[in-house]
Amino acid sequence: MTNQIKRTWIIIGVLFSIAAIGSVSFLYAITHVIEPTITVKNTLSCCPDLITRCLIILAMIHSVLPWIGIAVLLIGLINAVSRLMLSINGSMKLVERLEWQKVGVRGYSKIKKLAPNKDIFKRIIIFEDNRLHNAFTVGFLQPRIYLSGTLCKRLEREELRAVILHESHHVRKYDPLRLLIVAFICDTFFFIPLSRFLKELFISSKEKAADDAAIAASRRPLELASAMMKLLKLKNDLVLNSTAIWRADSQTERIHRLIDPMKDRPLGLPYLRAAVSLIVIVVLLGMLTLPSFAYKLPILGTLNCRSSHSLIIDK
Ligand SMILES: [Zn+2]
Repeated sequence: MTNQIKRTWIIIGVLFSIAAIGSVSFLYAITHVIEPTITVKNTLSCCPDLITRCLIILAMIHSVLPWIGIAVLLIGLINAVSRLMLSINGSMKLVERLEWQKVGVRGYSKIKKLAPNKDIFKRIIIFEDNRLHNAFTVGFLQPRIYLSGTLCKRLEREELRAVILHESHHVRKYDPLRLLIVAFICDTFFFIPLSRFLKELFISSKEKAADDAAIAASRRPLELASAMMKLLKLKNDLVLNSTAIWRADSQTERIHRLIDPMKDRPLGLPYLRAAVSLIVIVVLLGMLTLPSFAYKLPILGTLNCRSSHSLIIDK
């Protein structure tokens, strides 16, 4: 396991821990959220002049902050679900488009001997699309390898083999499904700046792992690098669906790494984003768990305006 993959799983682990801590704390605290909220509502209704006569700041903060935390998490969840739907829909549309452009049986004669096994061969689709000359893996439960016919013609035998081996790794590991799950987590926590970095890190680590698997099977890193250089020269103006494991901006870095493995540089942790993320996490957890440690304060036990006043004044 490379350092980059380890780092990806560590960040996913941290996000899951936050979600777990937040959920447990919230479940414990929920009973203490409703009561102070009702208290504030009752107190506000009994005080005609809110600002001057009945500003129960403490009670309001205790009652309002948890709801803000819940609202932020809910917005994150709605954002993630809607993006999940869009990704699944986009993936289905892309597959439908490419299935229509599938080439005939004769087009597969070249790749039949290059596929590592029969199962992978059955999962390869060769298509002809004027706007797309690429190789990628799409599909969540039954991932398939899509190869552009033009790319197949341009690549030498061993180059094409390296590309198929690379994509086979994505198929075996169900990488599009994994990416969908990681994207869902990142979209849920969209307000944590580090979540975007997590997605970049995941895709980059998956691409490198697929490169390593292809090299381990073929022992020909230069052929894979050469195939990628040819791919870069081809026209690709159709934006791929977000769940297709492919990052155009990482190609040059990957080519350098294939030519000279010593040049492998894992994505550096963005310290500023990490620091802001930490603050956001602490604030959010504080909001969600506030009632569990603040409900014992006497101000929250008051049920009428006068007693609330006297408590504030006494302090
Ligand atoms: Zn890939």
